[in-house]
Amino acid sequence: MAFEALDVHHPIQAQLKSKRLRYREPENPIKWPYEKLLREQSKTRRVYPINPYAEVYQFRENVYAIFTESLDGAGNPWIYLILGSEKAMLIDTGFGVGDLKGLVNEITGGLPLVVVNTHAHSDHALGDFQFDEVYCHEYEVLNLEKIKTPHAWDRLFDAYGNCIYTEFDRADLIGYHDFKITGVPDGTLFHLGGGVDIELMFLPGHATGMCGFLDKQNKILFAGDYTHAYGTSPDHPYARYCTVTAMRNALVNIVARRDEIDFVYPGHGPLDQPNIVLVNLLETVEKVLENPENYDIKEETVKGGKKKITYGKMIFQSSYFKYCMESL
Ligand SMILES: [Zn+2]
Repeated sequence: MAFEALDVHHPIQAQLKSKRLRYREPENPIKWPYEKLLREQSKTRRVYPINPYAEVYQFRENVYAIFTESLDGAGNPWIYLILGSEKAMLIDTGFGVGDLKGLVNEITGGLPLVVVNTHAHSDHALGDFQFDEVYCHEYEVLNLEKIKTPHAWDRLFDAYGNCIYTEFDRADLIGYHDFKITGVPDGTLFHLGGGVDIELMFLPGHATGMCGFLDKQNKILFAGDYTHAYGTSPDHPYARYCTVTAMRNALVNIVARRDEIDFVYPGHGPLDQPNIVLVNLLETVEKVLENPENYDIKEETVKGGKKKITYGKMIFQSSYFKYCMESL
Protein backbone atom coordinates (compact mmCIF):
# COMPACT_ATOMS: atom_id res chain seq x y z
CA MET A 1 0.00 0.00 0.00
CA ALA A 2 1.37 3.41 -0.89
CA PHE A 3 1.39 6.19 1.70
CA GLU A 4 -0.91 8.83 0.29
CA ALA A 5 -2.96 11.63 1.70
CA LEU A 6 -5.91 10.14 3.56
CA ASP A 7 -8.64 12.37 4.91
CA VAL A 8 -9.31 12.30 8.63
CA HIS A 9 -12.41 10.14 9.06
CA HIS A 10 -12.68 9.95 12.83
CA PRO A 11 -12.03 13.37 14.27
CA ILE A 12 -11.27 13.86 17.94
CA GLN A 13 -13.05 16.70 19.76
CA ALA A 14 -10.34 19.09 20.85
CA GLN A 15 -9.75 22.78 21.41
CA LEU A 16 -6.30 23.09 19.88
CA LYS A 17 -5.45 25.84 17.42
CA SER A 18 -4.09 23.20 15.02
CA LYS A 19 -6.44 20.98 13.05
CA ARG A 20 -5.41 17.76 11.34
CA LEU A 21 -6.66 17.53 7.77
CA ARG A 22 -4.88 14.51 6.39
CA TYR A 23 -2.81 11.48 7.36
CA ARG A 24 0.05 9.92 5.43
CA GLU A 25 -0.94 6.49 6.71
CA PRO A 26 -4.23 4.94 7.83
CA GLU A 27 -5.54 5.91 11.26
CA ASN A 28 -3.75 3.66 13.74
CA PRO A 29 -6.15 1.19 15.47
CA ILE A 30 -4.26 1.42 18.79
CA LYS A 31 -3.16 5.05 18.91
CA TRP A 32 -6.42 6.56 17.66
CA PRO A 33 -8.81 5.17 20.34
CA TYR A 34 -6.22 5.86 23.07
CA GLU A 35 -5.94 9.48 21.95
CA LYS A 36 -9.70 9.85 21.67
CA LEU A 37 -10.31 8.68 25.23
CA LEU A 38 -7.44 10.66 26.69
CA ARG A 39 -8.06 13.89 24.81
CA GLU A 40 -11.82 13.92 25.25
CA GLN A 41 -12.06 12.57 28.78
CA SER A 42 -8.86 12.99 30.80
CA LYS A 43 -9.41 15.02 33.95
CA THR A 44 -5.85 16.33 33.98
CA ARG A 45 -5.95 17.83 30.48
CA ARG A 46 -5.14 21.51 30.39
CA VAL A 47 -4.57 23.92 27.52
CA TYR A 48 -2.65 27.01 28.67
CA PRO A 49 -3.44 30.30 26.86
CA ILE A 50 0.29 30.84 26.27
CA ASN A 51 0.39 27.85 23.88
CA PRO A 52 -2.88 26.90 22.17
CA TYR A 53 -1.12 24.11 20.25
CA ALA A 54 -0.41 21.93 23.29
CA GLU A 55 -2.51 19.82 25.65
CA VAL A 56 -0.79 19.23 28.99
CA TYR A 57 -1.50 16.04 30.96
CA GLN A 58 -0.12 15.20 34.38
CA PHE A 59 0.82 11.52 34.69
CA ARG A 60 2.81 11.55 37.94
CA GLU A 61 3.34 14.14 40.65
CA ASN A 62 6.40 15.43 38.77
CA VAL A 63 5.83 14.07 35.24
CA TYR A 64 3.87 15.86 32.53
CA ALA A 65 3.15 14.71 28.99
CA ILE A 66 2.59 17.44 26.43
CA PHE A 67 0.50 16.45 23.43
CA THR A 68 0.82 18.28 20.13
CA GLU A 69 -0.59 17.39 16.73
CA SER A 70 1.76 16.23 14.01
CA LEU A 71 2.17 18.80 11.25
CA ASP A 72 3.50 16.39 8.62
CA GLY A 73 0.77 13.76 8.33
CA ALA A 74 2.39 11.14 10.60
CA GLY A 75 1.60 10.19 14.22
CA ASN A 76 1.13 12.88 16.88
CA PRO A 77 4.34 13.24 18.90
CA TRP A 78 4.69 13.42 22.69
CA ILE A 79 6.88 15.88 24.58
CA TYR A 80 7.70 15.07 28.23
CA LEU A 81 8.54 17.24 31.20
CA ILE A 82 10.07 15.93 34.45
CA LEU A 83 10.48 18.17 37.48
CA GLY A 84 13.22 17.85 40.07
CA SER A 85 13.73 20.16 43.04
CA GLU A 86 16.48 22.20 41.31
CA LYS A 87 15.94 21.65 37.59
CA ALA A 88 13.42 20.31 35.11
CA MET A 89 14.05 18.19 32.03
CA LEU A 90 12.23 18.58 28.72
CA ILE A 91 12.38 15.43 26.59
CA ASP A 92 11.85 16.36 22.92
CA THR A 93 10.37 19.59 21.65
CA GLY A 94 7.83 18.77 18.93
CA PHE A 95 7.43 20.62 15.64
CA GLY A 96 8.16 24.16 16.84
CA VAL A 97 4.73 25.72 16.53
CA GLY A 98 3.51 27.65 19.58
CA ASP A 99 5.46 28.85 22.60
CA LEU A 100 6.76 25.65 24.24
CA LYS A 101 9.39 27.49 26.30
CA GLY A 102 6.79 29.83 27.80
CA LEU A 103 4.47 26.91 28.52
CA VAL A 104 7.18 24.91 30.26
CA ASN A 105 8.19 27.91 32.36
CA GLU A 106 4.59 28.30 33.50
CA ILE A 107 4.35 24.64 34.52
CA THR A 108 7.71 24.55 36.32
CA GLY A 109 7.46 28.01 37.87
CA GLY A 110 10.65 29.00 36.04
CA LEU A 111 12.98 26.13 37.07
CA PRO A 112 16.25 25.96 35.09
CA LEU A 113 15.65 23.59 32.20
CA VAL A 114 17.72 20.79 30.65
CA VAL A 115 16.50 20.12 27.10
CA VAL A 116 17.19 16.69 25.55
CA ASN A 117 16.20 14.96 22.31
CA THR A 118 15.51 11.24 21.93
CA HIS A 119 16.42 11.69 18.26
CA ALA A 120 16.69 14.39 15.62
CA HIS A 121 13.54 13.83 13.56
CA SER A 122 11.51 16.93 12.89
CA ASP A 123 8.45 15.80 14.88
CA HIS A 124 10.65 15.67 17.99
CA ALA A 125 13.31 18.32 17.54
CA LEU A 126 12.11 21.40 15.62
CA GLY A 127 11.11 23.06 18.87
CA ASP A 128 14.83 23.09 19.82
CA PHE A 129 15.20 26.55 18.23
CA GLN A 130 13.59 28.14 21.31
CA PHE A 131 16.43 26.97 23.54
CA ASP A 132 20.14 27.77 23.85
CA GLU A 133 21.47 24.25 24.42
CA VAL A 134 20.13 20.79 23.62
CA TYR A 135 21.60 17.44 24.69
CA CYS A 136 21.39 14.24 22.65
CA HIS A 137 23.32 11.00 22.27
CA GLU A 138 26.75 11.60 20.70
CA TYR A 139 25.84 9.63 17.53
CA GLU A 140 22.82 11.88 16.92
CA VAL A 141 24.70 15.21 16.84
CA LEU A 142 25.23 15.11 13.05
CA ASN A 143 21.53 14.44 12.44
CA LEU A 144 20.51 17.31 14.67
CA GLU A 145 22.95 19.65 12.93
CA LYS A 146 21.35 18.70 9.62
CA ILE A 147 17.83 19.75 10.60
CA LYS A 148 19.10 23.01 12.10
CA THR A 149 18.14 25.21 9.15
CA PRO A 150 15.73 28.10 8.53
CA HIS A 151 14.10 25.81 5.90
CA ALA A 152 13.20 23.17 8.48
CA TRP A 153 9.46 23.77 8.02
CA ASP A 154 9.31 24.20 4.22
CA ARG A 155 7.98 20.70 3.56
CA LEU A 156 4.85 21.38 5.62
CA PHE A 157 3.52 23.79 2.96
CA ASP A 158 2.48 23.43 -0.66
CA ALA A 159 3.66 25.71 -3.50
CA TYR A 160 1.00 28.28 -2.51
CA GLY A 161 2.09 28.36 1.13
CA ASN A 162 -0.93 26.41 2.37
CA CYS A 163 -0.56 23.79 5.10
CA ILE A 164 -0.60 20.31 3.58
CA TYR A 165 -1.48 18.00 6.48
CA THR A 166 -2.44 20.07 9.50
CA GLU A 167 -3.85 23.57 9.56
CA PHE A 168 -1.98 26.03 11.77
CA ASP A 169 -0.97 29.68 11.72
CA ARG A 170 2.39 30.05 10.01
CA ALA A 171 3.07 33.12 12.16
CA ASP A 172 3.11 30.79 15.21
CA LEU A 173 6.22 28.91 14.02
CA ILE A 174 9.01 29.71 16.48
CA GLY A 175 11.50 30.60 13.73
CA TYR A 176 15.16 29.76 13.32
CA HIS A 177 17.62 30.49 16.11
CA ASP A 178 21.05 28.94 16.54
CA PHE A 179 21.60 26.70 19.56
CA LYS A 180 24.38 24.60 21.01
CA ILE A 181 24.20 20.83 20.53
CA THR A 182 25.90 18.75 23.19
CA GLY A 183 26.37 15.06 22.42
CA VAL A 184 26.82 12.74 25.40
CA PRO A 185 27.49 8.99 25.74
CA ASP A 186 25.27 6.10 26.80
CA GLY A 187 24.75 6.02 30.58
CA THR A 188 25.01 9.79 31.12
CA LEU A 189 23.19 10.81 34.31
CA PHE A 190 21.27 14.05 34.70
CA HIS A 191 20.59 15.11 38.30
CA LEU A 192 17.49 17.27 38.60
CA GLY A 193 17.59 17.52 42.39
CA GLY A 194 15.54 15.92 45.16
CA GLY A 195 16.63 12.43 44.09
CA VAL A 196 15.27 12.82 40.55
CA ASP A 197 17.97 11.24 38.38
CA ILE A 198 17.56 10.58 34.68
CA GLU A 199 19.80 8.18 32.75
CA LEU A 200 20.34 8.34 29.01
CA MET A 201 19.96 4.82 27.54
CA PHE A 202 21.29 4.26 24.03
CA LEU A 203 18.52 2.72 21.90
CA PRO A 204 19.59 3.07 18.26
CA GLY A 205 17.88 1.61 15.19
CA HIS A 206 15.25 4.21 14.37
CA ALA A 207 18.06 6.78 14.22
CA THR A 208 21.83 6.36 14.57
CA GLY A 209 21.88 7.92 18.02
CA MET A 210 18.36 7.46 19.28
CA CYS A 211 18.14 7.08 23.02
CA GLY A 212 15.66 6.70 25.81
CA PHE A 213 15.68 8.49 29.16
CA LEU A 214 15.12 6.48 32.33
CA ASP A 215 13.48 8.31 35.22
CA LYS A 216 14.91 6.16 38.00
CA GLN A 217 12.54 7.35 40.71
CA ASN A 218 9.30 6.81 38.77
CA LYS A 219 10.79 3.80 36.92
CA ILE A 220 9.62 5.20 33.58
CA LEU A 221 11.58 4.80 30.34
CA PHE A 222 10.87 7.60 27.87
CA ALA A 223 11.79 5.50 24.88
CA GLY A 224 11.48 7.58 21.71
CA ASP A 225 10.40 5.92 18.43
CA TYR A 226 11.47 2.33 18.88
CA THR A 227 9.15 0.49 16.52
CA HIS A 228 10.73 1.42 13.18
CA ALA A 229 14.24 0.87 11.79
CA TYR A 230 14.35 2.06 8.20
CA GLY A 231 18.10 2.62 7.89
CA THR A 232 20.01 5.69 6.74
CA SER A 233 22.44 6.64 4.01
CA PRO A 234 25.38 4.17 3.92
CA ASP A 235 27.71 7.22 3.94
CA HIS A 236 26.60 8.25 7.43
CA PRO A 237 29.57 7.67 9.77
CA TYR A 238 27.27 5.89 12.24
CA ALA A 239 25.13 4.07 9.62
CA ARG A 240 25.76 0.75 11.37
CA TYR A 241 23.68 1.97 14.31
CA CYS A 242 20.63 2.73 12.18
CA THR A 243 19.94 -0.98 11.91
CA VAL A 244 17.75 -3.72 13.36
CA THR A 245 20.91 -5.42 14.67
CA ALA A 246 21.97 -2.33 16.65
CA MET A 247 18.47 -2.08 18.08
CA ARG A 248 18.53 -5.75 19.09
CA ASN A 249 21.88 -5.31 20.87
CA ALA A 250 20.63 -2.30 22.81
CA LEU A 251 17.34 -4.01 23.66
CA VAL A 252 19.19 -7.00 25.11
CA ASN A 253 20.85 -4.62 27.60
CA ILE A 254 17.64 -2.75 28.38
CA VAL A 255 15.54 -5.90 28.83
CA ALA A 256 18.21 -7.27 31.22
CA ARG A 257 17.57 -4.17 33.38
CA ARG A 258 13.79 -4.30 33.22
CA ASP A 259 13.37 -4.50 36.99
CA GLU A 260 14.41 -0.82 36.89
CA ILE A 261 11.63 -0.01 34.41
CA ASP A 262 7.94 -0.34 35.26
CA PHE A 263 6.49 1.68 32.39
CA VAL A 264 7.41 2.79 28.89
CA TYR A 265 6.42 6.19 27.50
CA PRO A 266 6.97 6.18 23.73
CA GLY A 267 7.42 9.05 21.28
CA HIS A 268 3.93 8.33 19.90
CA GLY A 269 0.92 6.38 21.12
CA PRO A 270 -0.29 5.10 24.50
CA LEU A 271 1.62 5.96 27.68
CA ASP A 272 2.15 3.83 30.78
CA GLN A 273 2.82 0.73 28.70
CA PRO A 274 3.98 -2.13 30.97
CA ASN A 275 7.64 -3.15 30.61
CA ILE A 276 6.65 -6.42 28.90
CA VAL A 277 6.40 -4.37 25.67
CA LEU A 278 10.22 -4.27 25.65
CA VAL A 279 10.39 -8.06 25.92
CA ASN A 280 7.81 -8.48 23.16
CA LEU A 281 9.68 -6.01 20.96
CA LEU A 282 13.01 -7.81 21.49
CA GLU A 283 11.34 -11.11 20.59
CA THR A 284 10.00 -9.59 17.36
CA VAL A 285 13.34 -8.01 16.47
CA GLU A 286 15.10 -11.37 17.02
CA LYS A 287 12.58 -13.06 14.72
CA VAL A 288 13.18 -10.44 12.02
CA LEU A 289 16.95 -10.99 12.21
CA GLU A 290 16.53 -14.77 12.10
CA ASN A 291 14.38 -14.63 8.98
CA PRO A 292 13.66 -11.19 7.52
CA GLU A 293 11.60 -12.73 4.70
CA ASN A 294 9.07 -14.03 7.21
CA TYR A 295 7.24 -10.69 7.50
CA ASP A 296 3.55 -10.08 8.22
CA ILE A 297 3.06 -7.04 5.98
CA LYS A 298 4.84 -5.43 3.06
CA GLU A 299 4.39 -1.78 2.10
CA GLU A 300 5.62 0.46 -0.65
CA THR A 301 6.48 3.99 0.42
CA VAL A 302 7.76 6.99 -1.49
CA LYS A 303 10.32 9.08 0.37
CA GLY A 304 12.01 12.05 -1.26
CA GLY A 305 10.67 10.86 -4.64
CA LYS A 306 12.30 7.45 -4.13
CA LYS A 307 10.37 4.20 -3.84
CA LYS A 308 11.12 2.15 -0.76
CA ILE A 309 9.81 -1.26 0.29
CA THR A 310 9.24 -1.64 3.99
CA TYR A 311 8.22 -4.73 5.94
CA GLY A 312 6.31 -5.16 9.16
CA LYS A 313 6.41 -7.92 11.77
CA MET A 314 3.67 -8.01 14.38
CA ILE A 315 4.76 -7.23 17.96
CA PHE A 316 2.71 -9.42 20.32
CA GLN A 317 -0.37 -7.46 21.52
CA SER A 318 0.89 -4.32 19.83
CA SER A 319 1.54 -2.80 16.41
CA TYR A 320 4.12 -3.72 13.77
CA PHE A 321 7.88 -3.47 13.98
CA LYS A 322 8.87 -1.98 10.62
CA TYR A 323 12.15 -2.44 8.76
CA CYS A 324 13.78 -2.63 5.34
CA MET A 325 15.99 -5.33 3.89
CA GLU A 326 18.78 -2.70 3.72
CA SER A 327 18.46 -1.81 7.41
CA LEU A 328 19.07 -5.20 9.00
ZN1 LIG B 1 8.47 10.40 15.82
